Parts: sequence; structure tokens; C-alpha cells
Amino acid sequence: SRAIKIENVNKSYGDLQALADIDLEIKQGEFFGLLGPNGAGKSTLIGILGGLVKKDSGQVTVLGKDIISDYRKTKKSLGIVPQEITFDPYFTVRETLEMHSGYFGIKDNSAKIDELLRALSLKDKAEIGPRELSGGMKRRLLIAKALVHDPEIIVLDEPTAGVDVELRNSLWDYVIDLNQKGKTIILTTHYLEEAEALCDRIAIMDQGKIIKIDSKENLINSI
Ligand code: ADP
Ligand code: ADP
Repeated sequence: SRAIKIENVNKSYGDLQALADIDLEIKQGEFFGLLGPNGAGKSTLIGILGGLVKKDSGQVTVLGKDIISDYRKTKKSLGIVPQEITFDPYFTVRETLEMHSGYFGIKDNSAKIDELLRALSLKDKAEIGPRELSGGMKRRLLIAKALVHDPEIIVLDEPTAGVDVELRNSLWDYVIDLNQKGKTIILTTHYLEEAEALCDRIAIMDQGKIIKIDSKENLINSI
């Protein structure tokens, strides 16, 4: 069945059309890549999914629910890892994850938090604040934060920007494992090799349009 359905979505910033009539369906369990150069509209599309950007027109559903009229439910189904790293400096890693669990009404989430800390190699950083974390650790905390409520659909917006090779690989191992457990993964990237290595299906965006969408195999053969 369908994880996400995007129909006729348009978004402009003043005179600039960031998204032009986007139609896109992503199936449950897919590892889907959104590939395109800077400015193609990837972040705008992800922003609309997450409710941070208001679309001008069109409809978006997540697991069959409209993102506007069923905002609370769709928000719970999504785990969005944004590009920009922002944390409250006054909370430790564990407190950050506990607070975020609270947003979703989860009272005792310690089992899930411990699992995430282990999986993302943050266990020995649990009691320190974001100011003491390296860039790579902050990136991992950002991912953990997006996953505390165990969402069905995980969206990663350029997650490996500025991340070293070793961390990148362990990050991918974890994301691949989530996908094998049935989670839908959406990844935006401007690296063709990254999309090729990971995704089942890839959409290529440019100047607010999807110019190509196909399975990885067909896409590689057509380039
Ligand atoms: P990306 O790395 O996704 O291409 P950009 O560098 O285009 O991101 O933009 C980074 C952030 O700055 C975006 O989140 C967007 O909201 C904002 N932004 C981008 N372009 C403009 C613009 N022309 N005017 C105002 N804000 C912008
Ligand atoms: P991508 O993520 O593919 O790099 P974006 O969605 O960030 O693309 O940007 C698409 C276009 O919209 C770019 O030209 C960008 O400068 C512009 N843009 C993005 N956010 C804003 C904003 N808040 N205000 C004005 N222009 C923006």
C-alpha cells in the first residue's frame, strides 16, 4: 500500500516557482531517493511533508491521511531528519530525546532511547550537552530525535552532508536495517552514487520538477 501520495503540488517563493505540479507516490517499505542539484526543490518538498512549509496548492496524504486535516496523525507517522542542526544547549543527549518523546505523548521511552543511543553509538555521550558533541555526534542525535516515536516513514534530508566516511557507513547500515524491518525511507541527496547505492527507486528533480523517476536499475541503464 501507499506511504505517501503527492498530487499537483505547487509552491512559489515570490516569483520563484520552487515546486511545479509535483505528482509522486511512494510505496510502503520502499527506499526512495530524491536526487537533484542544489535549488531543485527537494527541501521544499520535505518541508511540506513535515508541515514546515505551506504549499500553495495540491494534496498530500501520508498513509492515506491528509497532511493538513489530519496533521497530528501524519506527523506521528513521519520521522524527519532535517538538514540543519539545531538543539537546545541546556539539555543533555538523553534529556533531548526524553523531551522529544514527550511531544508525542510517550511517557516512558527509555527502552527506545537506549536502543537508539546504542545503534547510533551515542551511549557514552548520553549525559552530556550538545555543546560538547562533535558535528558527527550532533548529526546522529538529530537522527535519534527523529526516530524516538518509532515512525513508519523516515525522511532524511541530505543526512551525510559534512559527515566523515566511517560515520556515513555506520549511518547507512542503521538506515538499511530500518528499511529491512519494513520502514519506508526517503532520502534526499545530490550525490548520484549515494542514491544508487541505497535506493530502490529514484526521482530526479530539477528546477521544481520531477524530470525522471524510475527503478535504480532502469535509471542507471538510461544514463
Ligand atoms: P539547500 O542546501 O537545500 O539547497 P539552500 O541553501 O537553498 O538549501 O537554503 C537553505 C535555507 O535557506 C533553506 O531552508 C531556505 O528556507 C532558505 N532559503 C534558501 N533560499 C532562500 C532565498 N532565496 N530567500 C530566503 N531564504 C532562502
Ligand atoms: P533543494 O533542497 O533541492 O536544494 P530548495 O527546496 O531548498 O532546493 O530550494 C528550491 C528553490 O527555492 C531554490 O531556488 C531556493 O533558493 C528557493 N527557496 C527555498 N526556500 C526559500 C525561502 N524560504 N524563501 C525564498 N526562496 C526559497
